[in-house]
Amino acid sequence: MLRALHDVSSAVNHLLPDWRAHPEESRFAATKRSYRWLRGHYPHLASSWAVTIANETSATLASWDKLLRRARRHDPEKFERMRSHLPRRKNLKASLHRGLYRLDGKVLDITLSPERHVRIDLSGTSHPLFWRYLKESGGEFGLAVTDRKLVFNFRISNPQPVRKEVVGVDLNMPSADFATSDGKIGSVDLKEISRVQGAMERKRRSVQAHLPTDLKAQRRVLRRNRGRERNCVRPLLHRAANDLLKAMGDRTIIFEDLSETTEQILKERRRGDCAQRRRLSAWTHGQLQGIVSYKARSAVVRVNARGTSSTCPRCGGSLTHPTWRRSDCAHCQGTWHRDRGAAIVILDRGRAALRGAALPPSARNALLDAATWRPDLETGPGPADERSKGDDANFGLV
Ligand SMILES: [Zn+2]
Repeated sequence: MLRALHDVSSAVNHLLPDWRAHPEESRFAATKRSYRWLRGHYPHLASSWAVTIANETSATLASWDKLLRRARRHDPEKFERMRSHLPRRKNLKASLHRGLYRLDGKVLDITLSPERHVRIDLSGTSHPLFWRYLKESGGEFGLAVTDRKLVFNFRISNPQPVRKEVVGVDLNMPSADFATSDGKIGSVDLKEISRVQGAMERKRRSVQAHLPTDLKAQRRVLRRNRGRERNCVRPLLHRAANDLLKAMGDRTIIFEDLSETTEQILKERRRGDCAQRRRLSAWTHGQLQGIVSYKARSAVVRVNARGTSSTCPRCGGSLTHPTWRRSDCAHCQGTWHRDRGAAIVILDRGRAALRGAALPPSARNALLDAATWRPDLETGPGPADERSKGDDANFGLV
């Protein structure tokens, strides 16, 4: 299997300059042209591997072009550096052609050549979603293989239903706060994630301090650390997503649409601590939304994120923040817990998007009551205070 993956990556690197030189050619024509060469050089692999290699080449070029477009918009220097170069496939990965694998009972069979098969027993797979998705997708799935893992892609046909009750979720760094259309407010703790990311942040700073002149080495170490950090944080995100889903029950979920926020952060191009922090929490929140969305048994809706924590949940007036967590409305004189108020605003936007009936007055009153500011809600300092202390409990996305 590893040998086949090495073959894929070297074949991709061989094809890239040639494919790049013929941008007018369709993917199909390019595959057809390269097929003979591939069959000649990799006769020990089954013919569908040639198709797999062509697909990987095309995917590598496509993702490189996407990076180029992004660099052109946000980072002209990087764009100048990149434009004259070609991508290079370094990691070992192949999305297999459908003809190369099948599930034989609980044994996954991958064809290397007609005489050589890799058989992997999946009966020990304990991931509950794996068997559920396999059943719901009717045994059809896409398969990508890397040197470390198998990635299954299921396509589930039945869409997640829209429920009668709705829940708005505001993701912050020490917690995820939610407000439901039947008048409940709750939150799920994300402190452990902040803690891990804080520790990693300190490591990042120490790397930058210790290797201040060797930018290349610095980048290499930082990249390795980023991988480790993501591996540490991912299981925590899964746990947080499970807690959140359990707490929210079967309700249609409304999240903030983070794509604009991410664009905004990329545009800033600042390398300072604050930009770093914002990038990090945008990544974390995006991941958490993604995990919740695929685990949810109800529909997930995304609404405009602009100004959710600076809009009054009662009158829609604009809010000021005398402390990180407290929001004051000059218009209706309300004082709110910042994150709970934001969750109510998100809930309202989602209900408008879903064209649902207005919130019953009793539920609205219960929400506003629960979101009203009380000094005991000031649990720990916000990011602004945090930065000066250099501690790691909070990463807020303003
Ligand atoms: Zn107000």
